[in-house]
Amino acid sequence: MSPQSRQWRGVIEEYGHRLDIPAGTPTITLGEGGTPIVSSAWLSEVTGGQVWLKVEGSNPTGSFKDRGMTVALSVAVGQGAEAVVCASTGNTSASMAAYAARAKIKPLVLVPQGKIAAGKLAQAIVHGAQVIMVRGNFDDCLAMSRELADKYPVALVNSVNPMRLQGQKTASFEIVDYLGDAPDVHVLPTGNAGNISAYWMGYEESLAAGESTKLPVMRGWQAAGAAPLVKGAPIPDPETIASAIRIGNPASWDLAMAAADHSGGKFRSVSDEQILSAQRQLANTEGVFVEPASAAGVAGLLLEAAEGARYDGEKIVVTVTGHGLKDIDTALSTFTEVVDTVVNTDVDEAARAAGLA
Ligand SMILES: *Cc1c(COP(=O)(O)O)cnc(C)c1O
Repeated sequence: MSPQSRQWRGVIEEYGHRLDIPAGTPTITLGEGGTPIVSSAWLSEVTGGQVWLKVEGSNPTGSFKDRGMTVALSVAVGQGAEAVVCASTGNTSASMAAYAARAKIKPLVLVPQGKIAAGKLAQAIVHGAQVIMVRGNFDDCLAMSRELADKYPVALVNSVNPMRLQGQKTASFEIVDYLGDAPDVHVLPTGNAGNISAYWMGYEESLAAGESTKLPVMRGWQAAGAAPLVKGAPIPDPETIASAIRIGNPASWDLAMAAADHSGGKFRSVSDEQILSAQRQLANTEGVFVEPASAAGVAGLLLEAAEGARYDGEKIVVTVTGHGLKDIDTALSTFTEVVDTVVNTDVDEAARAAGLA
């Protein structure tokens, strides 16, 4: 059957000519990428600039990880892999498990015991991954995954696999395509630092290809309890409610530092309270529900606006990295007031409860 209308075909089909991947690589895709770029009247007002949200929760498994995973899995399959492994704070494993199911190869996941949001763990399990809980943190899981891939016949698909960044850089291409140029500032949460490195690569390539005329200032935001790039040294026991960025020793440290330095940007951190507040405000002013880690960039923008920063005339893109439904326990933890009301089957009583009568 031939399609009747144009549908987004996933990042390999859409941008394959701009990806540095082996010739003859098969395409394992779920139609990832092509995510909404939503203007934010609220953040534009607060900052004085023009702010857009790149809503990566709209990817097939609910986070930007799918952009990199389609490429990593496709290349692994092209090279004959029969199993893939990753360390994960949750979203990498959810994404890898889905693409591995599609590729019909075995997904093996190493996660820190008790530290994964339930929604993400459910995704990995339902897609058929074998989940191994490690008594350690993410950084320990990554070290073990690397060693497993060294010693056993299993391909590593964490973002230390350069194919992941190839896929993830396509988000920059989409932004340049949409705006007609690169933005002035790009803001995003930073954990293992693969994504900021991938965005920077995408922007540099867009400039070199003549698709854009400038490079944005790259602003990475970490959680205060897991801010090695701010401190300038690894954090042995990172702690934050924003589990997707609870990382003490980022694998892409050098690339991320280079992106910040060369773009005139820097890393800063926000508290868990600021993250949760930004998450809630984003959901109830803009209709965009993101997971806690995903709100770190928004929290950072709000923090600097409160400190007096102005962005008049500038275009700002904020990546919100993953969907709010992945971690509803944390999202609801800030609601101490009553949010639902019980009434009898009586319209007038419902109206009174709603303040209509
Ligand atoms: C992975 C992830 C991050 C952090 O991205 P890095 O590339 O590790 O810096 C942020 N938010 C969400 C939702 C993620 O899944």
